[in-house]
Amino acid sequence: MRTPLVMGNWKLNGDKASVEALVKGLIKPANDATGVEVAVCAPTVFLGMVEQLAAGSKLAYGSQDADVNTQGAFTGENSPVMLKEFGCKYSLVGHSERREYHNETDEVVASKFKAIQENGLLPVLCIGESLEQNEAGETQAVVERQLKAVIDLCGIEAFNNAVIAYEPIWAIGTGKSATAEQAQAVHAGIRQWLAAQNANVAEKVQILYGGSVKAATAKELFGQSDIDGGLVGGASLKVDEFSGIIAAAK
Ligand code: PGA
Repeated sequence: MRTPLVMGNWKLNGDKASVEALVKGLIKPANDATGVEVAVCAPTVFLGMVEQLAAGSKLAYGSQDADVNTQGAFTGENSPVMLKEFGCKYSLVGHSERREYHNETDEVVASKFKAIQENGLLPVLCIGESLEQNEAGETQAVVERQLKAVIDLCGIEAFNNAVIAYEPIWAIGTGKSATAEQAQAVHAGIRQWLAAQNANVAEKVQILYGGSVKAATAKELFGQSDIDGGLVGGASLKVDEFSGIIAAAK
């Protein structure tokens, strides 16, 4: 069966003191979480600190984005090669905030996914529909379109070395999580659609749920057969709350 993965997304939050406290506080819960993978996606500038603080522990970490290019005249960007050198295991790609505020199209996201994977990191492909799309009944079509862009460029087998995070945009940072039933229905739809292309890949790929996950709601969400853990924003900034979410994945 698939190993549950609980991943924090700190977004643009933290300072040196809070990052130190958070990483130190998460080492024990991560080490104790038998059969659960725990990771945090930190702002790039803190990754060197996270590398040192998490050394020797089971706490994995990653970046929140990576550039398509690995080096050269691309001012302000972060290379997947550099992220790998700092010990990142994962990189988020295509988070809805990047799609919205940085105009990342499905094609840009697919190119980044490819660069991340080719340079030895596991892409965590974020997909999900807006409230408007949800209300129009377009959820499945939206997630298929987002997945298809990656499959067209990288092939279905690329998901042997990647994670999918289903994050309905209306649930992100709103305190309004999808219900376990709603999320399970979408996750099952994603897995069935992937299975039509490659049953083995579909069976193995971890599909995380994201959007206002809290310790109080995690158990029911993670108990669903097609939900393999969570991508957690706000609640990943507090040791106790995030530890509760990790415990719910056991
Ligand atoms: P949230 O964010 O848990 O604060 O809703 C999730 C995400 O954007 O990854």
